[in-house]
Amino acid sequence: MSKYAIAIHAGAETVKPETISPEKEKQFREGLQQALQAGYDVLEGGGSALDAVEAAVRSMEDFPLFNAGRGANLNEQGETAFDAAIMDGKNLKAGAVCSIHYVKYPITLARAIMQESKHVLLSGEGAEAFALSQGLEMEAPEYFVTEERTKKWKDKLEEQLTGQHDTVGAVAVDKAGNVAAATSTGGLSFQHKGRVGDSPIIGGGTYAHNSYCAVSCTGEGEPIMKGVLAHEVYAQVKYAGNSLQHACEEAIKVDDDKLQGDKGIIAVSPTGEVAIAFNTNQMKRAYRIQGGESVVAVWKDDTD
Ligand code: ASP
Repeated sequence: MSKYAIAIHAGAETVKPETISPEKEKQFREGLQQALQAGYDVLEGGGSALDAVEAAVRSMEDFPLFNAGRGANLNEQGETAFDAAIMDGKNLKAGAVCSIHYVKYPITLARAIMQESKHVLLSGEGAEAFALSQGLEMEAPEYFVTEERTKKWKDKLEEQLTGQHDTVGAVAVDKAGNVAAATSTGGLSFQHKGRVGDSPIIGGGTYAHNSYCAVSCTGEGEPIMKGVLAHEVYAQVKYAGNSLQHACEEAIKVDDDKLQGDKGIIAVSPTGEVAIAFNTNQMKRAYRIQGGESVVAVWKDDTD
């Protein structure tokens, strides 16, 4: 029997365990639990997968420790910039946005682009003008920049290391068996101004198709885009007949001699399976399947 289900992520990254204090880990788990609940409540109430993934991602865009919306990574200039995408597996409609600075909930702008524009992907000023025309909430740059990110940015100023893959994403299947995917990010810390990662690329970091799966990726955007990993999961299920879990594991390994880097994937199937795969020692993740308990995990060895 089909079940409704939701899975979320808040980034996959290879990190030294001592860089995440027990207090920080507890906060991560709380942020994941809140977002999972926000999405699950929608599904339980008979809402759509699309509403569920948007609700879960908005919750993580509000949560200041995740790399989306408020508290996102800072680029070389010490500024925030956001990318996001959403896809409805029922009709293959998709909306995405990149390089925006002032929209409080980038995922809601991606959804407005999907539903209210003729386009799939809008960028920068044009996207912000569209957000204003839709009456979306806007914020000044100071709203998004947290003290913690500023401190990290200053500490790393010398090395200018790009990194910190704590993008957020959600995938869900609703009572009607419709699937949807959503991903939202502040990109990599110290990224070049104007850089866009995999998250807003349909098929790259985000994909949904009612017959097979909904997928959201996290990690280093460049190898994920080049491997077209969200679409790879779909292709592995559709053409190779792989189970969803195996498809995610295969996607992580695709051309990995050439496409090296941190990678994480969450996916759901139209019947309510959840699959999670990653090649890092840490991936902030959570899921809940109809009738089951919430599962929240951070480290590789945490039992899912
Ligand atoms: N994939 C995102 C990017 O490359 C980063 C992340 O997952 O945190 O922009």
